[in-house]
Amino acid sequence: MDLMSMELVELSALLKELNQPAFRAKQVFSWLSKGKRPDEMSNLPKPLREELSKLQFGGARIYDKRISKKDGTVKYLFELEDGNIVEGVLMSYHYGNTMCISTQVGCKMGCLFCASTLSGCVRDLTAGEMLSFIAEVEKDVPHAEEKIRTVTNIVLMGSGEPLDNYDNVLKFLRLVSSPDGMNISVRNISISTCGLVDKLLRFTEEAPHVTLSVSLHAPSDEIRDKIMPVNKKYRIDELLKAAKNYADMTKRRVIFEYALIKDMNSDMFCADLLSKRLKHINCHVNLIPLNDVKERNLMGVTRKEAEIFLNRLTQNGVSATIRREMGADIEGACGQLRRSVLENL
Ligand code: SAH
Repeated sequence: MDLMSMELVELSALLKELNQPAFRAKQVFSWLSKGKRPDEMSNLPKPLREELSKLQFGGARIYDKRISKKDGTVKYLFELEDGNIVEGVLMSYHYGNTMCISTQVGCKMGCLFCASTLSGCVRDLTAGEMLSFIAEVEKDVPHAEEKIRTVTNIVLMGSGEPLDNYDNVLKFLRLVSSPDGMNISVRNISISTCGLVDKLLRFTEEAPHVTLSVSLHAPSDEIRDKIMPVNKKYRIDELLKAAKNYADMTKRRVIFEYALIKDMNSDMFCADLLSKRLKHINCHVNLIPLNDVKERNLMGVTRKEAEIFLNRLTQNGVSATIRREMGADIEGACGQLRRSVLENL
């Protein structure tokens, strides 16, 4: 296993094998959470640094970045050790900075409106790679005050389906929230899924209580079938039941993502049906005017149309907002989102 993916217990076992005293594990773990490579771990004896350098590191490097002149959003391209490239986006809000990271190189879910899935899924990302995206950004834009973190919130909403890379995502959540490492609270982490119901039920039992976002995008199976192949396997009723279960078990509000697509899911009939189905769930709807996907002939709606849809949901008693666009001038968001970036609620 690569160094960046190792949890403290795994590092302890490794260092024991290397005949090191027990306290070294925490030192190494702390360095790794800062994205430092073995030759930079200055409080370790040189022979140990050399020994660790022989192992696979497993971290990404920043390959390129673009900064939005409009709102300071930064889009990163990360290069992995095998040469693959993935995206991440750093957005600033009044409460801190949110980093949107990818969980796979590409995606195999096949959603009609999504650019990430166009050439399928190349491979899963490791826990260490996901951790290194945060660590690299911390090094790239350190907070003005030492000991304060630049990245305060994380959303797993970039390329890939997090629940299709279940074990690595769970490990990442443990790594990034570890008090001996980055120590980012799970309350500040969101995961977004297209709705793999069996995995979601497992996640509810096993995972730390992060915020759950469900990419719903349709009020009926008939419409959802047309745009999200995953709906053929897991019907909306099942998905909503699992989402409600998550809200009940974790006492946390579930977010439903709903991209408004012209002549597809954005009329008042859809708004009313959506309201009816969500009424009994502790939730919030995030409306996103779709970024046009010309290849598929899918168009977004105007701001005005989005507001009319929003008002209807609100009148029906469903909590909803229209997501603010960020990084519009740099094609801000993670692959599939193209220009519009997610707002973490
Ligand atoms: N696979 C996960 C996470 C990645 S997608 C999921 O499905 O949730 C992140 C979000 O971007 C999802 O809500 C997705 O539906 C949305 N998205 C994808 N393409 C988009 C587009 N063209 N316009 C607006 N939102 C889009």
